[in-house]
Amino acid sequence: MKIATVVSGGIEKPVVLDEGKAIDVQLVSDVLSDLEKGEYPVAYGINEMIEQWDEIPKMLKKAKKVFGGNFYNLFSVKRPRFGVPISRASKIICLGKNYAEHAKETGAEIPDEPILFGKFSDCAVPHKFPVKYPSYATRIDPEPELAVVIGKECKNVSVKKGLDCVFGYTIANDITERNLEYADMKAGHPWFRSKNFNGSMPIGPYIVTKEEVKDPHNLTIELYVNGKLRQKGNTKDMIFKINYLISYISKYLTLYPGDVISTGTISGIAPIEKGDTVVCKISKIGSLENKII
Ligand code: MG
Repeated sequence: MKIATVVSGGIEKPVVLDEGKAIDVQLVSDVLSDLEKGEYPVAYGINEMIEQWDEIPKMLKKAKKVFGGNFYNLFSVKRPRFGVPISRASKIICLGKNYAEHAKETGAEIPDEPILFGKFSDCAVPHKFPVKYPSYATRIDPEPELAVVIGKECKNVSVKKGLDCVFGYTIANDITERNLEYADMKAGHPWFRSKNFNGSMPIGPYIVTKEEVKDPHNLTIELYVNGKLRQKGNTKDMIFKINYLISYISKYLTLYPGDVISTGTISGIAPIEKGDTVVCKISKIGSLENKII
C-alpha cells in the first residue's frame, strides 16, 4: 500500500492511496466511530498513521464493506496535492559515501564504518514543490537516494532484525551545496550548512509499505535532469545495507516511527542550475520531481 500526506484547502491530511484516490483516514475513523461500535485508530498526522498501521487496513476494509460503492466518493480528498510524507518532528539521518563508485568520485576512501550526518525535517519539501537556488550558492548537486521510513521504536536492534523496524520506502533528493561541503570537509568542519538549506530535501511523493518492496537491495535508482538520464545505479551496490544501518544507528540513539534514513547517493554527481527540472526515480517506488527556481 501507499500512504502520503496530501494538502487540500490548505489543510494537511494523512491518507492512504487506493485506486488512484487519496483516502482521508481520519474521516473514515470519525464516520465509523459515529455509526459502528468499536475503537478506531485516530490519525491526524502521518506518524500516528504509521504507529497505528496494524489497525488501519482493517478499518478501511470495514468501511468498504459498510459503504460499498460510495466508499471512494465519501472518503477521497478532493483536489489533493502531495505534501511532505514525513512529520516535521521526524529525524532525517543521511549516509555519506554509501556507494563505492560515489566514494571514489569524491576522491575519498571506501569507508569501513557508516558515515552519518543529519538533515532537519524542515528542509523537506514535497513532490513538485519548487526548490529555490540559494543566493550564496555556487554549485548545487542533486543526490537521488532510497529513503527508509522507520515503523516502530527501535534501540539496540540486531543486524538480523534490522528490516523488522522498517515501515516502508520513499525517494529523497539530498540536495547539496557542493563547494561549501568540500570547503567544510577540508577545514574539518561538520557537513552542516551545505546539507541544510531551505528546500534541500525533496522527499516523496508517498511512502510505499515494505510488503510491496520485497528486496530493497535490488532497486534501480535514476536521476533525470530536464528529461535526460544523468545518474543510474542500483541499491545492491550499497556498502552498508539497510538492516546493518538500522542496527548501527540504533546502537547510538532510538529510532521512532516516521524517522527517515536516507541511504546515500549513487555515483555521477554533477551540478544543476536555475530552471532545471530534476526527477529522481526508483523502481517499485515511483518518481520525485522538483524544479529549481
Ligand atoms: Mg546524500
